[in-house]
Amino acid sequence: MTMSTVVLDSVTKVYPGGHLAVDRMNLRAEEGELLVLLGPSGCGKSTLLRMIAGLEEITSGDLYLDGRIANDLAPRDRDVAMVFQNGALYPHRSVRGNLSFPLEIAKADPNMIRERVIELSRALHIDETLDRRPGTLSGGQRQRVAMGRAIVRQPSLFLMDEPLSNLDAGMRTELRMEISSLVRALGVTTIYVTHDQVEALTLADRIAIMNRGILQDVGTPGQIYNDPATAFVAAFLSSQQLNLLSAMVRTPQNQYISLDFGLHQITMPWTDPRAYAVSQHTGSQIIVGIRPDGLTPIPEGVDGPHFTGRVRALEYHGHEWLAYLEVGIPAVPAPEPGPATVNGYANGNGHAAGGPASKVRAVMRRLMSGAEEQVAEEAPPVGSGHHRRADLVVRLGSRPVWRAGEHGRVAVDLSRLMLFTQQGNRIDPPRR
Ligand code: ADP
Repeated sequence: MTMSTVVLDSVTKVYPGGHLAVDRMNLRAEEGELLVLLGPSGCGKSTLLRMIAGLEEITSGDLYLDGRIANDLAPRDRDVAMVFQNGALYPHRSVRGNLSFPLEIAKADPNMIRERVIELSRALHIDETLDRRPGTLSGGQRQRVAMGRAIVRQPSLFLMDEPLSNLDAGMRTELRMEISSLVRALGVTTIYVTHDQVEALTLADRIAIMNRGILQDVGTPGQIYNDPATAFVAAFLSSQQLNLLSAMVRTPQNQYISLDFGLHQITMPWTDPRAYAVSQHTGSQIIVGIRPDGLTPIPEGVDGPHFTGRVRALEYHGHEWLAYLEVGIPAVPAPEPGPATVNGYANGNGHAAGGPASKVRAVMRRLMSGAEEQVAEEAPPVGSGHHRRADLVVRLGSRPVWRAGEHGRVAVDLSRLMLFTQQGNRIDPPRR
């Protein structure tokens, strides 16, 4: 079987009417790799997949399949198989008939067809259903047949567009594991589209994460989770709310670096590997991201980088407790998953234009778009004491060490701080 590499060189899609769905995408899928395209609904994932399949015209840029330019290649000449959310099956053919059909069309040897169908149906755990019609199968079984039918011809490239999103949670987990072992056993290059970060993290060799048509980051699941290139990626991959805080960078007498959160300061020594990069932002606001498990409750009096505040609420999540700590730091709301509209952000709390909310929205617009524009500082709000303050979300583990209303103190693990420009790009660019 031949395997395929896929290279996208500045691939762009503008739909008729002028909607920019994919913006100068550069990406490479290696031979035999399972590459997951991840991003909120509407970010352009399907459009990209359909351009690779040849179902959608590429507006500009180049697509290479196996090193050969493929922009104008007919879909049937691309040796690509595709599975959609609702894999359509031939209702009047048995499962066996559905699986063998692509090989019959290709005039394959009947003995080979029989063997291949049995082998594949075993791998997909549908060998018991070979004589049934699709109408009598469960949703999960039907989707297995759809996958089998797509892959039975042994294409050099397998494209999957949210194949699990119509299944219930249990079935989704089961099929996810099977897709993983199936495509790895076949060694076929696979590009898999999903909006579900758990699916992406569990399935992928590498993840390419998009927002508003723009590639945000690409790397192994561990790389993009632990070392995300943008604030959008950090927030999108957090299972709990990511703490995003606004800080001013100061370097008093060049002694050390201070991240000044207003009521709180965190000191970063010059020995920190990020110190030089951060010091370049002296006198500017940056965005600091901390996952709830990067904060640890500590007793009063313990030194080191910390925040303190009133415990506003505790939340039980079964496997862990979360605490909301009022620390009095201006909030930077997390990027909302979904197509970005200014009104779609989390902080629609009705401030007048030009006030803090609109300033935060300006930050978020830049976070969401990934654009490197410079936005002028807005005048300080007049007569407004309504700054939204962030509650720090703190992971407490299995024991609620605090009670609501108490004073809480959390140690900050400096190495877990993620530092972003106001545009949401990492100050210390991750290595890939
Ligand atoms: P995703 O797969 O990430 O949910 P899509 O690729 O389906 O996103 O869509 C990306 C954007 O392009 C969306 O804003 C969508 O509304 C728009 N879009 C998709 N298909 C068309 C089309 N045929 N004509 C015009 N706009 C489209």
